[in-house]
Amino acid sequence: MLNIVYYGDPVLREECEDFKQIDEEAVNLAQDMLVAMETYKGVGLAGPQIGIRKKIFVIKMGEDAKPLFFFNPEILEVSEEENIAEEGCLSLPGIWEKIIRPASIKLKYTNEKDEEKIEQIDGFLARVVQHENDHLHGRLFIDHLSLVKKRLLKKALTKIKNGEIDEEYLQEKDRI
Ligand SMILES: [Zn+2]
Repeated sequence: MLNIVYYGDPVLREECEDFKQIDEEAVNLAQDMLVAMETYKGVGLAGPQIGIRKKIFVIKMGEDAKPLFFFNPEILEVSEEENIAEEGCLSLPGIWEKIIRPASIKLKYTNEKDEEKIEQIDGFLARVVQHENDHLHGRLFIDHLSLVKKRLLKKALTKIKNGEIDEEYLQEKDRI
């Protein structure tokens, strides 16, 4: 099983690389990521969160939902309209913060059948995609917070960095 990488690991701050082709190996990786994501009760997981510096994320918005695989995603447009909602991240156990993001986006990506897609995405999926896409560029959701709010998290962040992660935080649902 793939292990989740936590805050403090430099891989979470790196820029990811494109897949040259969506072959069997790439699809197998996506499937393995889906298993890891579901084990940790997450709804989204990006390459760097399992230590892989590649442009990939998987999303599954609920138990009965269809898994979605995104390779080489690129956000082409974002709406002016924004919304605010709480986010948690598999790489930042125990931290939940309200984050402002564009309400809808236009996304280009390649799916697991090697088909290039351009889609307008809104609702909570738009938020999850933006959070995962941030991971592919070395950004974390806490980077969207004000300095004051980030300072308040300093203690919690240091704990994660030092590997002092409370077991109960790892059971939290719907992280991305
Ligand atoms: Zn995350």
